[in-house]
Amino acid sequence: MSELGTAARPLRVAVVGSGPAGFYAAEALFKSGNTVHVDMFDRLPTPFGLVRGGVAPDHQKIKNVIKVYERIAASDGFAFFGNVMVGRDVDLQTLKRHYDAVILSCGAETDRRLGIPGEDLAGSHTATEFVGWYNGHPDYRDRSFDLSAEVAMVIGQGNVAMDVSRILAKTVDELAGSDIAGHALEALSRSKVTDVHMVGRRGPAQAKFTPPEIKEIGELADCDPVVDPRDLELDPASRAELELPDAKLNRKNVETLREYAARPAPTKSRRYHIRFFLSPVELRGDGRVEEVVFERNVLKGEPGNQWAEGTGERFAEPCGIFFRSVGYRGVPVPGLPFNERKGIIPSRDSRVVEGDVVLPGIYVAGWIKRGPSGVIGTNKPDSYETVASLLADLPKLEPCEVPDSDALEGLLEAAGVHVVSFDDWRKLDAAEIARGKSQGKPREKFTTVEEMIAHLREA
Ligand code: NAP
Repeated sequence: MSELGTAARPLRVAVVGSGPAGFYAAEALFKSGNTVHVDMFDRLPTPFGLVRGGVAPDHQKIKNVIKVYERIAASDGFAFFGNVMVGRDVDLQTLKRHYDAVILSCGAETDRRLGIPGEDLAGSHTATEFVGWYNGHPDYRDRSFDLSAEVAMVIGQGNVAMDVSRILAKTVDELAGSDIAGHALEALSRSKVTDVHMVGRRGPAQAKFTPPEIKEIGELADCDPVVDPRDLELDPASRAELELPDAKLNRKNVETLREYAARPAPTKSRRYHIRFFLSPVELRGDGRVEEVVFERNVLKGEPGNQWAEGTGERFAEPCGIFFRSVGYRGVPVPGLPFNERKGIIPSRDSRVVEGDVVLPGIYVAGWIKRGPSGVIGTNKPDSYETVASLLADLPKLEPCEVPDSDALEGLLEAAGVHVVSFDDWRKLDAAEIARGKSQGKPREKFTTVEEMIAHLREA
């Protein structure tokens, strides 16, 4: 048997998930100096994970990173297995039979719950659903959001909450030149929402959004930012927190919020309320959300480690549509251990572990490893670290039994799975761009797997 990673016997790696973490893992493998074959699996026919389905449509520049991923995909030894779901179309044992190592980079596909009464009333949604819907993700394209009331509440103050509330606050003209899904633009054009509230349980010094995102809110065409100056009277611990060396972004956020609080009374048709020290404790309504009960919070704890504690003071406010945006969560992969509390696959140095036992040849990268934190670029060092562990294990990796991707593809096709290659994706990409052109959009996405496959069959 030749050594793994040589021209005679390339190292075969299955990467599960084609978002940033998956592509950076592939890049690290190709740059390792070994001869490597990477097959990248995605349950969708389309690659790029959250860059396609998560990044806000009005933030097109962020999507330029796709060019980097296209270059990685053009490497010798790379193949895309789109429209193949690990755990449904192929199980982990089969992957292990065809690959020497498996890297799971399948992200965090679901969301955390608030755990409050009324959370499942109609009109109460997750950010995940809304983001998927406006981005044309096939799982969410059929969702509907009733935008006929004036007040929308978004709970959480991360950049996802920011995206969701900004999309609600923008005019159709501001969104029209983006790659927002046609169905979403149409529904948003009929929106009656005039007041979007982005509500944080802690204070302005702890908000997780980043300075460019909060600055953008002050520049919207027909929406004014509203901040209550009383929320900016910081407690001593928050003042100390802002002096910490790593609090530069928080200081900038607070500066921007102060500028908003000092602005004259709003005059535009919509308002974007940035609110603090409030936790929703109940959603009420007759069959659908009509009001939210909030509890006012105070901060407790040391600078840099303050948490929100309820004061017992509660009040209700009318609400027509409610979104929770309190963090994503990974979903279990059949056949692998899962940490329910953290929503991640447990690992040590990126090696998947069951209790104390390392599962040989199985690794994790990205959000399914560390949880849903950081920006796209954070995944690069994360995935390189994963690949470093894999390469350190190379001398003792058990070579797979069937080092043959065609054999696996044959099994999938025999089971009725239409495997979508990277060349197929290029055809879908070109068709989407052509569809968008006539509408002045960068692309008009296919939003169902069926229409993607039908297009490929025709092409
Ligand atoms: P996030 O940044 O972790 O924010 C989660 C928010 O939910 C925080 O405000 C958090 O408050 C709040 N929260 C959590 N549990 C809560 C509860 N029980 N009640 C009330 N509030 C609660 O997560 P995210 O917004 O989902 O974003 C995920 C990652 O993607 C982040 O790293 C983000 O920066 C990144 N991202 C970046 C961009 C961009 O660069 N433009 C866009 C989208 C996403 P506490 O702080 O009090 O915990």
